[in-house]
Amino acid sequence: MKKIDSENYSADELLDILLEGNACFQNNTPRVKNHCFCAMKETLTNGQKPYAMILGCSDSRVCPEIIFDTGLGELFVARTAGGTIGPNVLETLEYGVAHLKIKLLVILAHQDCGVMKYALNAPLYNDELENLIHHAQCVKTQMGTACFNELAKHYCDFAKHRLLVKSQIIKKAYDEGKLKIQKAYFTLENGKVELLD
Ligand SMILES: [Zn+2]
Repeated sequence: MKKIDSENYSADELLDILLEGNACFQNNTPRVKNHCFCAMKETLTNGQKPYAMILGCSDSRVCPEIIFDTGLGELFVARTAGGTIGPNVLETLEYGVAHLKIKLLVILAHQDCGVMKYALNAPLYNDELENLIHHAQCVKTQMGTACFNELAKHYCDFAKHRLLVKSQIIKKAYDEGKLKIQKAYFTLENGKVELLD
């Protein structure tokens, strides 16, 4: 079983580990995973030390643990429809930074995101799914994009900006170089996570 002590790795190296895992997923060669109770009993019942945080979408096809080929205890994950950020999500990520001392956050958008599709086509200021699509609609207006996949990528920029504006804990860690925030995009058609910037 792979065990990664994040203290021995830089944020860039941890990102490489995730991308290596994604390559295993893409190539249909997942490594041994600790997806069983015996692994938890062996090493995880007394605490967790995940080495990366993921902010991603609740989409059933975009499970971070699977597409990065990771097991129990490795990722600290916040998922909402569209990867949208409300107060609880913000505090979840703050917990990851302040208490779990995680130094890598991946903001993971994806192809064919239902929330981005809906936001692209829904009228402004409608009541349905308002909290989910409001920010995506702001991004749509700003960027003038007509493609929901492009909107999902632009939304990553918005999400990063929002985290830094709304959270002093995240901003401080980021400014001090203790937290790397990496934007990324998952393509369903080829299983690849590509880095955005
Ligand atoms: Zn989605």
